[in-house]
Amino acid sequence: MITSTTDPQPADFADVRATNLAVVLRFVREHAPCSRADIAASTGLNKATVSSLVADLIDRRLVRETGLTENRVGRPATMLVLDGSPYAAIGIEINVDYVTAVAVDLSGERLLSWRRSFSGATTAGQAIAGVAAIVRRVVNRMAKEERQVLGLTVGVPGLVGTDGTVRIAPNLGWHDVDLSGDLAKALRDPGFSVQVDNDANLAALAEHRFGAQAGTANLVYLTGEIGVGAGVILDGRLRRGGQGYAGEIGHIQLDPLGAECRCGRLGCLEAVAGIGAVLEHAALSPAEVEVELDEVVRLARAGDSRTLNVLGTVGRNLGKGVAVMANLLNPDVVILGGYYVPLAPWLLPEVEAEMRGRTIAPDVGGCRVVASTLGYGAAALGGAARVLDSVDSGRLPRIS
Ligand SMILES: [Zn+2]
Repeated sequence: MITSTTDPQPADFADVRATNLAVVLRFVREHAPCSRADIAASTGLNKATVSSLVADLIDRRLVRETGLTENRVGRPATMLVLDGSPYAAIGIEINVDYVTAVAVDLSGERLLSWRRSFSGATTAGQAIAGVAAIVRRVVNRMAKEERQVLGLTVGVPGLVGTDGTVRIAPNLGWHDVDLSGDLAKALRDPGFSVQVDNDANLAALAEHRFGAQAGTANLVYLTGEIGVGAGVILDGRLRRGGQGYAGEIGHIQLDPLGAECRCGRLGCLEAVAGIGAVLEHAALSPAEVEVELDEVVRLARAGDSRTLNVLGTVGRNLGKGVAVMANLLNPDVVILGGYYVPLAPWLLPEVEAEMRGRTIAPDVGGCRVVASTLGYGAAALGGAARVLDSVDSGRLPRIS
């Protein structure tokens, strides 16, 4: 017999209202300009409720009326659009020697996009002080524009627990760093939420909201940085796994006799299909990697056979890994990000050929592989996207 220890509770009125506010906000985000009657007709909420919810969203300056009206049978309807001009969502990506900061308004309009050199920080404490200084500059800029910060998400290349603790970030040399707690402290209780997430997860959120594949329900983003990680969106939701560590595709073993990975194991995807397998020199700084990468692209364009051989091998190795993803998750699209983007013209044909040979589903289960169009700032943009996701799911700013 199945027993329940808790009786069903009557839904909390405040929760229902917050949920309904979020429903209306999302509808306006997707369908603006739209009228109150449109919202009522599509959401099933009655007209009086919609009017009250819209009034609340207007008070919070999340939605505004446009001067436009739409003539219908009967009286003209006032059209609504997202407002959000008084708000900003901030995303930061911490990488080995640079930090990227992005701020967007409620509609996703880019307000700011910075990339700052970040060398000299040898401990997590120094890095956090440096990040806090950058966040303060972003917040000051937003304050000058009279914008309230809705929240901040920081992306890190490493394992991030669901509590915002960075368990391991090998390229940063971090272990068990309470990044969200320490950063909030360094910002002296900033009055907005400080979240921390894995860089691949955030880049996947950025693609899902802003990218060329926006709205694709089953989407995998592969970071092509020094490390390789996957952000996995299935059925429209980011999948983190039990402790938040899902998507470490960089450490599946492709070749038991392959090159040594930075994790100490042999033949990991990251070691045989990461950017390190493309470049001649190991352990370069990102700035140096970009210079070398330009040279690889130049040689590939010129038809240099050695370069084309290397890219062929790396593409086939990458294809083996992507085929594992295709068999396991059946994504609609796999997006190659970071350093893979400039190499995509040479990698993609190899990846696709491997997938055709290794995926059990007909037509590789409908999975396409494409290069990201969001550039190196994808994870930072995803940090801002995560803040907007939180607003869209009902965590609305208080009326100031
Ligand atoms: Zn490894």
